[in-house]
Amino acid sequence: MTISDKIQEIKSEIPATVSLIAVSKTKPIEKLKEAYEGGQLDFGENKVQELTDKFEVLPKDIRWHFIGHLQTNKVKYIAPFVHLIHSVDSFKLLKEIDKEGRKNNRIIPVLIQFHIATEDTKYGFFIDEVEEMFSDVEFENLKNIQIKGVMGMATFTEDLKVVENEFSILYQIFQILKETYFPNQPEFKEISMGMSGDYLTAIKCGSTMVRIGSTIFGGR
Ligand SMILES: *Cc1c(COP(=O)(O)O)cnc(C)c1O
Repeated sequence: MTISDKIQEIKSEIPATVSLIAVSKTKPIEKLKEAYEGGQLDFGENKVQELTDKFEVLPKDIRWHFIGHLQTNKVKYIAPFVHLIHSVDSFKLLKEIDKEGRKNNRIIPVLIQFHIATEDTKYGFFIDEVEEMFSDVEFENLKNIQIKGVMGMATFTEDLKVVENEFSILYQIFQILKETYFPNQPEFKEISMGMSGDYLTAIKCGSTMVRIGSTIFGGR
């Protein structure tokens, strides 16, 4: 099966309202081109250097999603062009993205990453930390970021019951934040959850964006 066939197959399984982010980390340019030529415009990467290298050589209508842990000193390299940063996991990082947004005269769309898995290796906020951040006076001064929703990664397990429970928690967090902090902001609408092993479960739990790598491009 070609890369485009794989993408079409996934698209036929998911609602048209759910965005498919093709996670192309570690994959060579040729594979991304193949996906692009089949009509795929949203790509996800988790390393700044790799993302900027690929951005340089690939068509400019590609929408680049940053999905990995982002160090504050590297925000400047992706700030001019990144489409959506899924992985905001600290207030410090959010402030840095705002600063680089201002320098680049743009508003950078972001998602707030939540810690929903039982593994403690996963990055992300807990809800009380986000509520604290949202009520900080410094938060109100951030004019060059737009918070579009939430992101999370479930525990790496075959047990889809565990995964479903964690995705449901992220859905509830999204609803609480929407009601409390973004009631009249339709742009706060994204729930980025679901990867190769669990995207159908994620969609069942309300995902609006799935990030799929190995099912499209093969194992890494
Ligand atoms: C690698 C990665 C994915 C895609 O994982 P697959 O299992 O290959 O689909 C999704 N999200 C994040 C944050 C990743 O790092």
